[in-house]
Amino acid sequence: STTIGRKGEERSYQAFEEAKKVLPGGVNSPVRAFKSVGLTPIYMDHGAGSHIYDIDGNSYIDYVGSWGPLIMGHAHPEVVKALQETAAKGTSFGAPTLLETQMARLVAERVPSIEVVRMVNSGTEATMSAIRLARGYTGRSKIMKFEGSYHGHADSLLIKAGSGVATLGLPDSPGVPESIAANTITVPYNDLESAQLAFERFGEEIAGVIVEPVAGNMGVVPPQPGFLEGLRRITTEYGSLLIFDEVMTGFRVHLHSAQGLFGITPDLTCLGKVIGGGLPVGAYGGKREIMEQIAPSGPIYQAGTLSGNPLAMIAGFTTLSLLTPEVYDRLERLSAKLQAGLEANAKEAGIPSVINRVGSMVCPFFTNEQVVNYDTAKSSDLDLFRRYFAALVQEGINIAPSQFEGMFVSGVHTDEDIDATIEAHRKALQKL
Ligand code: PMP
Repeated sequence: STTIGRKGEERSYQAFEEAKKVLPGGVNSPVRAFKSVGLTPIYMDHGAGSHIYDIDGNSYIDYVGSWGPLIMGHAHPEVVKALQETAAKGTSFGAPTLLETQMARLVAERVPSIEVVRMVNSGTEATMSAIRLARGYTGRSKIMKFEGSYHGHADSLLIKAGSGVATLGLPDSPGVPESIAANTITVPYNDLESAQLAFERFGEEIAGVIVEPVAGNMGVVPPQPGFLEGLRRITTEYGSLLIFDEVMTGFRVHLHSAQGLFGITPDLTCLGKVIGGGLPVGAYGGKREIMEQIAPSGPIYQAGTLSGNPLAMIAGFTTLSLLTPEVYDRLERLSAKLQAGLEANAKEAGIPSVINRVGSMVCPFFTNEQVVNYDTAKSSDLDLFRRYFAALVQEGINIAPSQFEGMFVSGVHTDEDIDATIEAHRKALQKL
């Protein structure tokens, strides 16, 4: 890998060399290594509000937001204060605490389909547990997912996956037994007809359909009108569960999450990212009748030493408490402004570009085609993306180092941040 070529990235370069000696690929999660853009990763030192600062002293307006969780920015004073007060009382007890009930009540109030919710420690655990529940509840084995969607790294879900799997071109991971992969049916996103055909063939064997209600791991791809409604209808018809993976969209796209935005009620919902406020959290929830099948009320097993731990609960609870309807109005306004600015820049530079957006999930693709699924997402010019990424970083804008990820606007970005970002993007495009 090479450096971006700015002054002052020596420390990041050295840090990566040291890390590679003791961490696989130098990192604890693959996309952080910047491998697909052929660069050395930037080591961050601290963040404040909409900005992050690297160990070489460079600052950036941040649109990664820790890959989604930081909807109220870095080190929000109220979140930090709540964490400090909670940590002082002990970080984990392995016994029930009042905070867990308080958090569950708030999640159940806000997410229409959730009556009962179980806390876990990551989005991966949430989806893994939700499909176990779907299988246990229905007594069926097969799962349907969509190409280019990412639902964490559980065996059953690492089939034709998006996110880092797509970025690194590793669609089917070694280590997933064929017998497990055989139980996962994949169809293109937004393709209701294919889903219907698969149900006509395997319907009685399908435990559940897991879907990102807005796809966020092949870049950002909104559901086309009728797609989610159709999945709701088909799953009901065949007695299969509809599982919304709202790990990314939960509390991101709407006060009541994507299901609130689109008015569709899934049977189970997976959450993560925003509900942890920057600490490791996931959750899955739904109708009482289904959730009560989980141990100890039911026979389907799922547990966790650190699940519902006080720090994660208070960071999440404080973050959700900050998310008022006004914050979502602000996110919509700033994100629409960003989208319009990026569109105007691309037009001016004469670069083919489509900007997909749902709420504060924004994604510029370098293509002329409408991006509606993984195949069309892949029509984007990935070589151009690599050069664009480096140029944008040089202008002080931090985005994910992959075409298959969106930008996240936060409730603490300012109009000045958005203006500066549009101008930086303009300069970056002019350089390409
Ligand atoms: N589902 C979706 C939709 C995601 O975006 C992600 C992470 N990007 C996951 C599941 C997995 O979450 P985690 O990385 O916390 O395991």
